[in-house]
Amino acid sequence: MFPPFTLRYARLPERFYAHFEPVPVRDPHLVAFNRSLAEALGFDLAAFNTEEAAVWFSGNVVPHGAEPLSQAYAGHQFGGFVPQLGDGRAVLLGEVTDHEGRLRDIQLKGAGRTPFSRGGDGRSPLGPVLREYLVSEAMHAMGIPSTRALAAVTTGERVMRGIPEPGAILTRVASSHIRVGTFQYFAARGDSEGVRELADHVIERHYPELHSKLESQPDGERYLGLLEAVQKRQAALIARWMGVGFIHGVMNTDNTSISGETIDFGPCAFMEQYDPKMVFSSIDEGGRYAYANQPSIAQWNLARLAETLLPLIDEDGDKAVELATELLQRFPEQYESEWLAVMRAKLGLASEKPGDKALIEALLAAMHRGRADFTLTFRSLSDTAENTQAEATLIALFERPDEITAWLEEWRERLAQEPRGDGDRERQMKLANPAFIPRNHRVQQALTAAMDENDFGPFETLLQIVTHPFDDQPGREEFTLPAEPTERVFRTFCGT
Ligand code: AMP
Ligand code: MG
Repeated sequence: MFPPFTLRYARLPERFYAHFEPVPVRDPHLVAFNRSLAEALGFDLAAFNTEEAAVWFSGNVVPHGAEPLSQAYAGHQFGGFVPQLGDGRAVLLGEVTDHEGRLRDIQLKGAGRTPFSRGGDGRSPLGPVLREYLVSEAMHAMGIPSTRALAAVTTGERVMRGIPEPGAILTRVASSHIRVGTFQYFAARGDSEGVRELADHVIERHYPELHSKLESQPDGERYLGLLEAVQKRQAALIARWMGVGFIHGVMNTDNTSISGETIDFGPCAFMEQYDPKMVFSSIDEGGRYAYANQPSIAQWNLARLAETLLPLIDEDGDKAVELATELLQRFPEQYESEWLAVMRAKLGLASEKPGDKALIEALLAAMHRGRADFTLTFRSLSDTAENTQAEATLIALFERPDEITAWLEEWRERLAQEPRGDGDRERQMKLANPAFIPRNHRVQQALTAAMDENDFGPFETLLQIVTHPFDDQPGREEFTLPAEPTERVFRTFCGT
C-alpha cells in the first residue's frame, strides 16, 4: 500500500533524532482518509480496505522500508528558549516521492511516548486531530502552503485532558518537518557541524536553486542565501494568512517551518468580525500572537534562525551580524509587497497604483469600526464587482453604512483606472476571496458530534465544504455565515 520510502532524514547523523517505533494502540479505526492525496503520493489503493488502513495509520504495523524516528528540535515558546523540545508524540516514518517528484514526509502524530515526550503522554485527543485535518486541508484548498492530512484513526483508547477523551492519530504530510527550532537545537549545543549538515540538507531539499550554485559560491553566501530564501517564503506565507483572516495562535520558533508551510494547527482560528488585535488561544495571555502581530513575529523568528547561521555566514562575527541584520531589515518591505499583492487581488486590482495601500487600509478601518465579518466582506465585495445592486448586501454587513458607502465610491473610481474590462473581475476576485472557511463554531460542532456521539457526518460535510472554498455552493449558504452570538467561539485550546 505504501509507496517506497526514501529515508533522507534517517541518514543524517544519529544525534538529529531518536529511533522510535510507534506504540501500538488497542483498537484502531480509520475515521478519515484523503484518497486524492494518497494517490498523489503514490499509494497503491487497488486493494485498499479500511481495516488494513487503520492498522497502518495507527502505527500498529510499521510499513516495509520505513525507519521510524522522532526528530530533535528546540524552540522559543512565547519568547522563552527551551533547548530541548523534539517530537514528543510524533514519529516520522520516512519520506516518499510524490507524483511531481517532490519528497514528502509521512508522520504519525499521537503515536506514543518518545524520548522527547518530557511530561507528556505522547498521545493526541480526537478533537485536535480532526481540527488539524479540517484546517490544514482548508488552507491547502485556499492555495496557502500547508502541511496536509492524509488519514485520521481513533485508537480505541482514552487520553486524559482533564477529562477522558477519545484518542486519535493523525497522519501528516509535509515537505519536511524541519523548523527554525531544529537549527536552534544544534546551535544551542555549540554543534556548528550539526547546523551546517542541517543547512546543507535543507538547501538540497527545499532550496535546490542555492544548491546548484554550491560549487561556484563562497560558503558564506550560500548560507546567507538560505536565510534570504526562508525569509521570502515566510513573508509570502504570512501575507497569505493575513489575507484570509487566519490566526495561527502559537507562532513559536518550533512551529515555524523552514519550507514555508503552515505547520502545527493548535489553537488556530479564523477571525469573523475584523479586529487586528484578535487573539483566540487560551495560552496567549499577552496577545503576543495576535492577528496583526504575525508579520513582526515572523521576522523575530527569522532573527532566531539567523543567529544559528551566523558562524556559517562569516568567520568574522561582526561581519556576519552585519550581513544578517541588513537582510532581516528588508523583511517588512518584502512582507508589505507580498501583502499588497494578496490584498490587491482581493480588491480586484490587477494593476498597481500608489494609492492602493491607503485604499486597502481604509477598507480594513471601515471593517474594524463597522464590526464587519472578514470573509463575508471580501466575498460580498466580489459580488458587487460587476453588479452595483449587490452593494446593499455588502453594506448590511457593517454596523454603520456611511463609511463603507463612501469607500465603495473610492473603490469604483480606482476600478475605473484598471486596464481590463469588467468581464472576468468577479470570477478573479472570487478566486482570491473564499466563501467558505472553517468557521470556528462549525469546526466545534463537527468535533463535538465526532467526540460525543461518534458521528463523523458533520466532520465529513464540513471537510467537503471547506475544501472547495472558492465555489458558490448552492444549499450551503449557512456555512458562509458567522456564528450567532450564542455559538461564538472566543477561546481555542492547544489540546495537547
Ligand atoms: P505543540 O504545542 O504541539 O507545538 O508541541 C510543543 C512541544 O510539546 C513539542 O515538543 C511536542 O512534541 C510536545 N508535546 C505536545 N503534546 C504532547 C504530548 N501529548 N505528549 C508529549 N509531548 C507533547
Ligand atoms: Mg509544535
